[in-house]
Amino acid sequence: MEFVVAPHGWVRLPAGLLDPWRGPRVLDFLEQEGLVDPRRVRRSTPARGLDLARVHDLDYLEGLELPGATERAFGMRLGDQVEQRVLRAHRAQVGATVQAAGRALETGGVVVHPGGGFHHARRDRAAGFCLFNDVAIAVARLRDLGFTDRIAVIDLDLHDGDGTRSIFAADPSVHTYSIHNRPWDDAGGAESTSIALGSGVGDERYLEALRATLPPLLDRFRPRLAFFLAGVDVAEDDDLGDWRITAGGIVARDAFVLGELGARRVPAVVLLAGGYGEEAWRHAARSLARLCHGRHAIEPPSTSEALVSRFRGLARELSAAELGGYGDELLTAEDLEEILGAAPARRFLGFYTGGGIELALERLGYFADVRSLGFDSPVVELDPGGPEGDILRVFGDGERRELLVELRARRDRRALPGFELLWLEWLLLQNPRASFTAERPRLPGQTFPGLGMLRETMTALVLVCDRLKLDGIGITAAHYHPASQSIAEMHLLDPADEPVFAAVCAAVRGLPIPEASRLVELGGLVDEATGEPYRWRPLSMLYPVSERLRAWFAARERPAAGPAPRFLRREPVPGAAVPVP
Ligand SMILES: [Zn+2]
Repeated sequence: MEFVVAPHGWVRLPAGLLDPWRGPRVLDFLEQEGLVDPRRVRRSTPARGLDLARVHDLDYLEGLELPGATERAFGMRLGDQVEQRVLRAHRAQVGATVQAAGRALETGGVVVHPGGGFHHARRDRAAGFCLFNDVAIAVARLRDLGFTDRIAVIDLDLHDGDGTRSIFAADPSVHTYSIHNRPWDDAGGAESTSIALGSGVGDERYLEALRATLPPLLDRFRPRLAFFLAGVDVAEDDDLGDWRITAGGIVARDAFVLGELGARRVPAVVLLAGGYGEEAWRHAARSLARLCHGRHAIEPPSTSEALVSRFRGLARELSAAELGGYGDELLTAEDLEEILGAAPARRFLGFYTGGGIELALERLGYFADVRSLGFDSPVVELDPGGPEGDILRVFGDGERRELLVELRARRDRRALPGFELLWLEWLLLQNPRASFTAERPRLPGQTFPGLGMLRETMTALVLVCDRLKLDGIGITAAHYHPASQSIAEMHLLDPADEPVFAAVCAAVRGLPIPEASRLVELGGLVDEATGEPYRWRPLSMLYPVSERLRAWFAARERPAAGPAPRFLRREPVPGAAVPVP
């Protein structure tokens, strides 16, 4: 099995449904497990305009360059700079699919491109996050090079492969096979299979439909090349999908498809296609690990663990001198202080200089994420020495007009005796260029929508703890939404809060976050036993970093098992305390 990746093929979007690092996370994991040799991963070049024009109408391609075109395809506000980045990234991904197809024919084996699968794109229009139909473009390129044999497109993304089907509707040399929830288009094709299974589908029904229909098709059609769109938006935990396919079901599906192709010696290109939310990469990683390894399943780490280990790997190359400014400059801040008798160097937490933090954020790829949101020149500003801690700000521009991150932090020995923590008095992450929409309404405490980088920010702070030998990160969540986002990885400082917060979360389970926040913070929950309304109060939460603190939490005694509270929803009382935005 070979891999082809698209450099610069990933871009962070202002709304968080698409994980910008899905492909790289998958590849990182396979490399760390020793299943893929990084030196043997091929890096593709972006698709040429000529390749795009073999499939797409010129009018459409020219129109994509106009402001707003990509926004319409994605159904969200992006801004000019982000639109340009999205276009470049998609073009890079098309290039990888084209190259993977060429390699599959050369080697006769399986080639994986951890990306691609833009199956909704048609000749003349974009749809559903798909701008260019990479599979159709790869096929057109192979045809141009003289490959005339039959090709199968096996599309097991949750959604209908309508774009690909429409492009090959009149071409009997390409069979488009799609199992999906609902049809996007009723039109068939000269060679096509469309199986719509509806919503709520589980493993058994899905695998049965696949086993009953794919082998006979392969026997009859006898393709000499296959594209496999291994979409994982079929997963039960997908943020967008409506099916209930288990992790094991996805592994079984992928093994079955590649097994059937392998048995018939059909070279194959595997593409990731859909998969939404931060956990989606793990399904693809698990499945590919199984395929690479053959026998054993290897469970990928959680998304946080993967990010912490990635950041720690990158941070090993940063020296204390670089971070603290004790570098090779002719005169250090300390020298100047001695010479001029100036005030002590103003450092963040007594250690980091602004330049040191900028260097770290650059090396960690944090600034690359910020840039992909359209903020081209991020800078760090420090304001240490305040009564409640040192302030660190990240602006998106050199003029410091667009505030993205504001953090007030101090070292703390009181919150948890025996441990020293990095205590965050205040943490703001916002995207001043994004706007609130019906799907992303304003949440309590927000002036602008979030930056979507909470996980990366917390991981960078884990490195601060590593460097300064602090045991963990403490934060007071002033609102329900950050607390609920963090609870899977953080502990509540006061164990007595645990059953109460768990009951609050249970009472609003299944509701969209804005609705849940409104109920929790505006008195919309009542205690089932007492009839008293639940009153929200900020929660102190801890993320353990040191082994010692992790062990302490693991051993912490549970509070005596009294009756756990239960909350019921009611409509908020008008005039109940409204949190100040
Ligand atoms: Zn999909």
